[in-house]
Amino acid sequence: MSQDKKSPPKSQGSSAKSPNQKKASTPVAAVKPGAEKAAKTADTRAEPIAAKKSPANVTNTSGAPAEASKTSGVSSPKSASKPRASLAAKPERPGASANPSKTEQSADAGMKAVGPVAELEPLKPVMTSPELARSPMDAPDLLNAGPASRPESVADASKKPGVDAPGPEAVAATPLAVASDPTLRVEPVQPGQPVERRALPHEPAQEAPHAPEWAPPPHHPVRNPLFIVHISSELAPVAKVGGLADVVFGLCREMEQRGNHVEIILPKYDCLRYDHIWDLQCAYEDLWVPWGGAAIHCSVYSGSVHGRKCYFIEPHSQDNYFNRGVVYGFNDDVMRFAFFSRAAMEFLWKAGKHPDIIHCHDWQTALVPVMLYEIYQPMGMMHPRVCFTIHNFKHQGATGGGVLNATGLNRPEYYFHYDRLRDNNNPQAINLMKGGIVYSNFVTTVSPRYASEAKDQGQAFGLEPTLHIHHSKYGGVVNGVDYEVWNPEIDPLLSVNYSVDSLDLKYENKRALRHRLMLADNEKPIIAFVGRLDPQKGIELIRHALFYTLAQGGQFVLLGSSPDHSLNAYFVGLKHQFNDNPDAHLEIGYNEELAHLIYAGADITVVPSRFEPCGLIQLIAMRYGAIPVVREVGGLADTVIDKDFSNHALNERNGYVFRDYNEAGLESALGRAIACYYQYPEHFRALMKNAMRYDYSWNHPGQDYLNIYDFIREQ
Ligand code: ADP
Repeated sequence: MSQDKKSPPKSQGSSAKSPNQKKASTPVAAVKPGAEKAAKTADTRAEPIAAKKSPANVTNTSGAPAEASKTSGVSSPKSASKPRASLAAKPERPGASANPSKTEQSADAGMKAVGPVAELEPLKPVMTSPELARSPMDAPDLLNAGPASRPESVADASKKPGVDAPGPEAVAATPLAVASDPTLRVEPVQPGQPVERRALPHEPAQEAPHAPEWAPPPHHPVRNPLFIVHISSELAPVAKVGGLADVVFGLCREMEQRGNHVEIILPKYDCLRYDHIWDLQCAYEDLWVPWGGAAIHCSVYSGSVHGRKCYFIEPHSQDNYFNRGVVYGFNDDVMRFAFFSRAAMEFLWKAGKHPDIIHCHDWQTALVPVMLYEIYQPMGMMHPRVCFTIHNFKHQGATGGGVLNATGLNRPEYYFHYDRLRDNNNPQAINLMKGGIVYSNFVTTVSPRYASEAKDQGQAFGLEPTLHIHHSKYGGVVNGVDYEVWNPEIDPLLSVNYSVDSLDLKYENKRALRHRLMLADNEKPIIAFVGRLDPQKGIELIRHALFYTLAQGGQFVLLGSSPDHSLNAYFVGLKHQFNDNPDAHLEIGYNEELAHLIYAGADITVVPSRFEPCGLIQLIAMRYGAIPVVREVGGLADTVIDKDFSNHALNERNGYVFRDYNEAGLESALGRAIACYYQYPEHFRALMKNAMRYDYSWNHPGQDYLNIYDFIREQ
């Protein structure tokens, strides 16, 4: 009788305390000790510095990245907490080309020269969106709250979060409000007018030897809602390439559930999953985005993606930036996303939106904080603080200086400085991700282990010195999983829903998966891999896992694809090799629906990554009771606890871990998993329950991000 047909092995210790219970009372591992101390340190930063300094030009005058890290290493603890403060001196007017004289619009190219008049005009919406009017942030008490609901003037740039914040949605209502109430008009600074500039995001603090890493301060029990805008190149499920899309959606939902107002700005790709967008309508049809000394005409659409309020920016230009059928993979990707970043900022400015927090992600939107502080703050956009999340250090947006003129940042001599955007490896290049680190108020990456691997173990692909310089505003927060999407109890894409208390039903999904992929119905465990076929994911070991699994009496399922044609072709060849094998199936491509069924049907999931910033695959797999077999790196090391080799309590162990990136390493963990499945089914079942009980939702990371937002609002 096959194992599928009999009841799965019984639980070993149902009376054991659930890991969930324990975790609920423990802060997420991301939050390192010293939160209160760090908060206090930040609070003491009151002493102004006299001369104008850019966020970047404080510490390293040598110009050499290696020196930067060396310098930071010898500074005293005292100097590490040296105050950074407001810049009283008259700032330079950056982006000179942002104000050229106005010229005629060129209709066919969708370009026009930018002039001061155009810049000062508030953006008019195409229509009054009923959705905007219904927004909780449009409640009359907020709109009528006097100064609190006004877009701030330059002079009263906020110091206290939530007090002088522009009524979280002075924003959506602004175009209308501006028309009827001149007191609500944003008053941009006239050229030449001195601007008192808020402390730049981060003059880099010099690193104290052995200084504790930053950790979010404790949660404030009573808090005002925040207005948070995410600027992102991906959002699940409408524009998903990898984990970034899941993270943006899940984090936004969590923040809204905690009472904050969240909006997301995305490119309007032609390949968006439009079937997941509700109420899509043109909200603003005349957004002119400064670009290359002229301007590109854009339309901005609003819509709702499973309850999340989104704006989609559509440029009308011959460059056709977002009508390419896929999200990434073009020679001009840097220009495409630099344009998107400028367009998103211009949209915020023209629409009168002054969020408390702008949260941007990866190199694609790393120029947002640079533009905020170098272009929009001098124009009067003083309120927002920026949190920048790095999902992967491998892709940094290193590029030539052309992007500076295109975006209106100009001044190559200013930005080609090691303390600003100059690439640490290639002096001829600027590095967008580095700009994001230097100019943001806070930088996160997606697990504490990866945060330290990047800074201290050479995993930052050249940005290590920059992370050292900016270590006091840098930390790791493990991503959450959206349990309203990834939850076997309610997942509509499964054959049968199940939970930790009805584990036997998982085997209906195993049967359904086999049926769908035409695999034999037998007693074998199914070992799965879902993910991008990228060298980062450990291509050689994924391949080896396939052969090893078959040799050990298991079945193997792979779902993945690669933008690299030769890699894709290699796996297509492998697929053909196993076409007639009843124990293996390779699905080359992207298939969200099939992914759900694989997590539900698999017994074991392999994630043998070379490096892994966080990894959602193992977190999702755990929720579905598919035991993770992972390499001990990055977020995998932070989230998977080995069944046999660990100091953790038995009921906290949730998978198998190996260290060495080689076949023997993989076999040492995968072999134990398969052996346990066959020889100790009761133990295997207990392990499944442990994994399913873990809370890897957005609950804890959501709190961590709120703490970070509070922290940077209070600066
Ligand atoms: P990364 O962000 O490096 O791609 P993560 O583990 O953080 O990796 O997130 C991967 C996400 O993308 C998961 O939700 C996974 O299920 C999904 N995914 C990756 N490849 C595919 C695919 N070919 N088909 C369906 N879903 C995929």
